[in-house]
Amino acid sequence: MNTSVRQRDILYLNREELRNYYINYLPTLYNIIMSSKSFEDFKANLAIYINDVKFSELKIIPTLKKLLKSEGSVVYELSQGRDIEISTFRNLYDFIHNINPDKNKANEIINSEGNIVENKTKANQPSEFVDSHTYSNKFGNSNTDLYIDLFYLFRQLEFPYRKGLTKKYALSALDKWTSATDEDTKKEIKENALRIMHLLVKKIEQRKHKKSKYVFSSDMDEETKLNLIKSWWNEHSFHLTMAIREPDELNMMLNYSLSDDTMRTLHEAQNKGIPFFVTPYYLSLLSIKENGFNDYTVRSYILYTPELVETFGEIKAWEKEDEVKSNEPNAAGWILPEGHNIHRRYPEVAILIPDTLGRMCGGLCASCQRMYDFQNKHLNFDMEKLKPKSSWDRKLQELMTFFENDKTIKDVLITGGDAFMSSNQSLKKIFDAIIEMAIRKKEANKNRKVPYAEIKRIRLGTRLTVYLPMRITDDLVDLLRDTRERASKIGIESFVIQTHFQSPLELTEEAKLGIKKILSSGWIITNQLVFNVGASRIGHTTSLRRKLNMLGVLTYYTFIVKGFNENHAVYAPISRSLHEKALEKVYGKLTKEESEELLSKIKQDNSDVVLPKFLLDHNLPFLATDRTVLNLPGIGKSMTCSLIGYLPSGNRILEFDHDHTRNHSNIIKKMGKIFIVENKSIAEYLRQLVDLGESIEYYRDIWQYTKGKTEKLFAFYKV
Ligand code: SF4
Repeated sequence: MNTSVRQRDILYLNREELRNYYINYLPTLYNIIMSSKSFEDFKANLAIYINDVKFSELKIIPTLKKLLKSEGSVVYELSQGRDIEISTFRNLYDFIHNINPDKNKANEIINSEGNIVENKTKANQPSEFVDSHTYSNKFGNSNTDLYIDLFYLFRQLEFPYRKGLTKKYALSALDKWTSATDEDTKKEIKENALRIMHLLVKKIEQRKHKKSKYVFSSDMDEETKLNLIKSWWNEHSFHLTMAIREPDELNMMLNYSLSDDTMRTLHEAQNKGIPFFVTPYYLSLLSIKENGFNDYTVRSYILYTPELVETFGEIKAWEKEDEVKSNEPNAAGWILPEGHNIHRRYPEVAILIPDTLGRMCGGLCASCQRMYDFQNKHLNFDMEKLKPKSSWDRKLQELMTFFENDKTIKDVLITGGDAFMSSNQSLKKIFDAIIEMAIRKKEANKNRKVPYAEIKRIRLGTRLTVYLPMRITDDLVDLLRDTRERASKIGIESFVIQTHFQSPLELTEEAKLGIKKILSSGWIITNQLVFNVGASRIGHTTSLRRKLNMLGVLTYYTFIVKGFNENHAVYAPISRSLHEKALEKVYGKLTKEESEELLSKIKQDNSDVVLPKFLLDHNLPFLATDRTVLNLPGIGKSMTCSLIGYLPSGNRILEFDHDHTRNHSNIIKKMGKIFIVENKSIAEYLRQLVDLGESIEYYRDIWQYTKGKTEKLFAFYKV
């Protein structure tokens, strides 16, 4: 019997062909199913099979036992708020018995000659919870993804995974991913920028807002106009003013390189009211050449998918704790001031969203976790309307009263939108208010038997280091430095800019300069990455991590893509994140001693030379200081999970536990286990990678990752 199974082949089999794979490659399982007199009989026989002592050492056994135990149970899926009946083995049993997947014939069993031999009663059928994207896909007549995944699980009984691919592959794939400062790429980006600048000359000539700073006088020739634009290119306000806000202009700026299908989707997005906002600078990172640099990750941040367009208007908030009602605890158990200014998940941290331009971003990330807020216009791109109103000053003080009276908050995270979208003046007001509040809190503590937690950390969340690095002006750096110096004197210890670099392609000369300038102010930079399909390609995040570290940036979180159908196209399954962790991050893992040494070095000096030197001294390719997590609705970040079942579409159902290493409100005790259905099957994800030109044999271990554990928080991140 031929025992080699090419992953690529199996992804494209139809049901009949896949069933033959079970016959040929999993004969024991096949025979158990076929010889069982009923489904109940099959379950009993399966239990005997997987409990065989010869398998007892195999890693897959606890997962198979858990799947069997969960069979037939109904779980409440938290993200979408509905019950799901788990029918994993029921579906497998029916599949092997060749039950016709055609809905009209759903109750029929067909024998090998194609004759109907039995009708099943409705009561025996699994409940319908079908993801339309994968149930009938373009790769076959009907869905096979569930049986492909199960095939690989059971195959581990016969062919246990070896130690996985050589980990060196992860490092060798580093050079595969272009950085914006690689010579050829840099040259192409410059050409792109020049092309866009020429088009901006025309745009300005046609502009009606003659009051704008960005206008030409009537006596200017073409060369003078172009030179002016070249100098304006370094101003962030130029890019905000000239941002592309509709699909036809986007296509024009990209030399009409977008496909008809993409344009149709973008026009539908426009009709549905999804905002467009792309800065000319960020757009220059897209290649318009057929064989140009690989820009897929950046592209997936700019271009909307049909699923997003289809869902917009009905997108539900993934982060249920962000829904705030007067005098009622949010989903994480906290009573918060009315309005949309404070979000809170944990006892020590609260997010402050100011009523300023900070409710805008430097671009709309297509997979934004806050798309719900763009949908309901709490966040938007209306620069005029977002200018702070006179009532904001009063409201800011009221919000500070909330912080002042809270017993546990130590960490204020200013986000939006984007914290750096706020003007320096607005930021200064916020910083001043926080410092004054921290002083009052300290003073009040002198008269308290049990003192309240004092403010220890200020953080700013921004992606402008990526969308608009020109925003890191000398004035902003002075403001950051001054704030740090003043706040340090009253006991605030930690100052962090939290960025969101997604690809090495975003590390342009401008971005590098922005990073250098921020670090010179004494603030630390940490990066949060979203592990979407583009970023999940092997070697991509390794490359980004190393480059960030070499610039003095620490990696903080690697997030699983949140959301429902709207993010279907960009979702990378959790098993891939766990695979990545095993394959790649182990290289940059720090020992306890190294961790302590790094922490003390950062505390003494956070300039851009500390991290590169540390890497060199310890012979590390990068620092795995980040944690891979899913932000679970209501209970915060965790990766402690295990596979308990599948939808008929092959999407995995995971049981999560909250992160026991950090504090939560008391509500956590009532919440118990959380069940989440993944957005995509592994097989569908792998087919996507094939379409992207990836060699998926390198991902062959992905199926074995059925359990996760939340990583420890790097000491620097504790408050
Ligand atoms: S910068 Fe952040 S908040 Fe703004 S669109 Fe991107 S992910 Fe969303």
